[in-house]
Amino acid sequence: MAQELTHPSIKDGWFAEISNTMWPGQAMSIKVEKVLHVEQSKYQDVLVFKSTDYGNVLVLDNCIQVTERDEFAYQEMITHLALNSHPNPKKALVIGGGDGGVLREILKHELIEEAWLCDIDETVIEVSKKFLPEMSKSYNDPRVKVHIGDGFKFLAEYKNQFDVIITDSSDPEGPAESLFQKPYFQLLNDALTEKGVITTQAENIYLHMPIISKLKKDCKTIFPVAEYAYTMIPTYPSGSIGFMVCSKDANANVKKPVRFEWTDKFVDENLKYYTKEIHEASFVLPNFADKILNKD
Ligand code: SAM
Repeated sequence: MAQELTHPSIKDGWFAEISNTMWPGQAMSIKVEKVLHVEQSKYQDVLVFKSTDYGNVLVLDNCIQVTERDEFAYQEMITHLALNSHPNPKKALVIGGGDGGVLREILKHELIEEAWLCDIDETVIEVSKKFLPEMSKSYNDPRVKVHIGDGFKFLAEYKNQFDVIITDSSDPEGPAESLFQKPYFQLLNDALTEKGVITTQAENIYLHMPIISKLKKDCKTIFPVAEYAYTMIPTYPSGSIGFMVCSKDANANVKKPVRFEWTDKFVDENLKYYTKEIHEASFVLPNFADKILNKD
């Protein structure tokens, strides 16, 4: 009989998101039914397990990346906040996003003609194709083009090419560190077309206000419009995660959809979190965060 797979982050049948300086003194735990994959890739520790209540779970360097049960809350918001803030998006790019979930959301927009993805780690794409079918099915769409490489280096090759760029990266410890620095936002700006829009994974208001405050300050020096929005998602640290939403168009108002081509029936059948109202509400922050991010 094949030996049961194990991983150091799993004890007594529970995965715990410990040993991470980004959320000191706390750790999300998820009950494990079966470990499906353990691998040290070229860039990160890759773990996939079947949980008792959250479906399959992808973990990179001990950080939960996606669970099948609640990934929609993140994938829909980081994608549609960007695409519905652009008047006519034809070509989109994902930096990171190896699980395929953001790609899946981009492909829900009929205007999109090309959806590119650049992830540094092919292992993530491979395990997602094997264990996260509802996300990785997006790779089969003919509009998708996949590039394996460092997003920072990839972007430097492209100027004035993409209408929307979504940075769906892991946290700024490890291979994604450069994707949180100011030079990266300049690369994003240069790679965008005239009215280009970006969203980036921008951490949690209860844990990372210094990171978010610096992100917003850096973005404001490069983009005329830079706003922070967030989503509620049970399995990310402290139950929410945010996004920087920036536009090259000084007249853009990213806090309201500029375009909403979907019927109520389409929304009902294809979106579990994002709506017109949630788009607007997601920029309304609790007072402690609003004072730092929007009042300074
Ligand atoms: N939704 C998750 C979150 O908010 O933490 C992120 C999920 S996605 C799996 C994160 C991806 O970023 C991984 O596949 C990882 O390989 C990729 N990544 C990390 N650093 C990168 C870099 N410098 N360039 C491109 N992809 C990178």
